[in-house]
Amino acid sequence: MAVDFKVIIVGRGMMGAAAARHLSGMIEGVALIGPGEPIERKSHSGVFASHYDEARITRSFDDNVIWATLAARSLDRYSDIEAKSGISFFSEVGCLFAGPHARPGDRYLGRALQVSAALDLSVETLSPAALHERFPQFSLNPTFNGYFEARRAGHINPRALVRAQTKLAEQGGVTIIDATVASVRDEGAFVEVHAGGKRYTAERVLVAAGGFSNFNDLLPDAIDIRVAARTVAFFELGEREVDIFSSMPSTIVFGDRDEDHVYILPPVRYPDGKIYLKLGGDLETRSFETLNDIGAWFRSDGDPLERDLLVSTALELMPALAGCPTTSAPCAATFTKSGYPYVGYTGSPRIAVLAGGNFVAAKSSDELGRLGAVIMTKGWLGAEDFGRELTPVFR
Ligand SMILES: Cc1cc2nc3c(=O)[nH]c(=O)nc-3n(C[C@H](O)[C@H](O)[C@H](O)COP(=O)(O)OP(=O)(O)OC[C@H]3O[C@@H](n4cnc5c(N)ncnc54)[C@H](O)[C@@H]3O)c2cc1C
Repeated sequence: MAVDFKVIIVGRGMMGAAAARHLSGMIEGVALIGPGEPIERKSHSGVFASHYDEARITRSFDDNVIWATLAARSLDRYSDIEAKSGISFFSEVGCLFAGPHARPGDRYLGRALQVSAALDLSVETLSPAALHERFPQFSLNPTFNGYFEARRAGHINPRALVRAQTKLAEQGGVTIIDATVASVRDEGAFVEVHAGGKRYTAERVLVAAGGFSNFNDLLPDAIDIRVAARTVAFFELGEREVDIFSSMPSTIVFGDRDEDHVYILPPVRYPDGKIYLKLGGDLETRSFETLNDIGAWFRSDGDPLERDLLVSTALELMPALAGCPTTSAPCAATFTKSGYPYVGYTGSPRIAVLAGGNFVAAKSSDELGRLGAVIMTKGWLGAEDFGRELTPVFR
């Protein structure tokens, strides 16, 4: 039977748009189906994404060699994507980790130092005194060391990266369809996709719908994920604070336990014209099993207790923020059983999945998109592409 497309990608987010761009260079007959960002978040009743923001930390320094490699391979291509799309999204302001003195192999920072040596990353270790001198904006624990990746690190604008990927995919011949998919069904010789009241057919489908992958009948088998609430706090900066904080890098500060870390984005201008410094953490435990619950979360302002905790932590770490107006926003992180993204086929040989950012995949989304494109064309991932580790786990 003649189908409308060779491949349909479901989800116009960070991974889906990247997969579309990579596929556009490999085959013809690709469609990318997904809605854009809702104009009115608080009254929107459809699906949401985890990239509706202006800044995500990027770095290769990581305690896991696979994640570090996925990030490094993506970073290699940022400038090319920027040049070809004419859309800039990468701010190379560096990334600083601050925490207790790292012993090789011990805790996050100790493991990250080993990965950094193995991948030959350029990461400078700063003594507590050097850390204070270099980054006087912070009031850190005086025993903390710094681990600073000055180049090939900083932050990306996730909205702009998705725009760039989509633009290049479209220029490469991909059909962009602005609609929410209501179902994906393997019909034997082809796959049927219903979206925006229309029916599309394809030889194969790649579902890249982030935390919404198990909803809307997108997958024949549910993937084993935990979609977790995340709250971020914003400080609206005046001129004085912009002066103080504009030279800071993206920063991650550990507490006594690795889980107690906070991440801080340097001042960034948002679409409302104001400049905000943002911070978030990894402590929230609430997770979502239904479309209604996750929708209600995305329409909220996040968790007020988490916001208060983030604000007080920020004021301890950056006392000069005192007096700045604060707001908060919700987001969702999709954690997998393996701790790695899922890139592979479901029980259907025609429907594959590309999802599971584990709270850290914005920076690596271009490489993950490439792996999704490999799955659609070659059918499997080799060891050099971490095929075994990225194998999806189903419920
Ligand atoms: C608060 C927060 C902070 C983060 N900070 C960082 C960071 O500093 N650095 C970093 O590297 N990563 C960070 N991340 C993680 C990163 O944002 C995610 O890993 C990344 O967005 C995942 O990309 P994705 O394509 O899987 O999902 P998304 O970007 O969420 O895209 C999924 C897409 O699927 C679409 N979709 C859903 N359902 C349907 C449907 N039925 N039909 C059609 N389309 C559908 C959605 O519209 C969306 O566009 C953070 C995440 C959060 C929540």
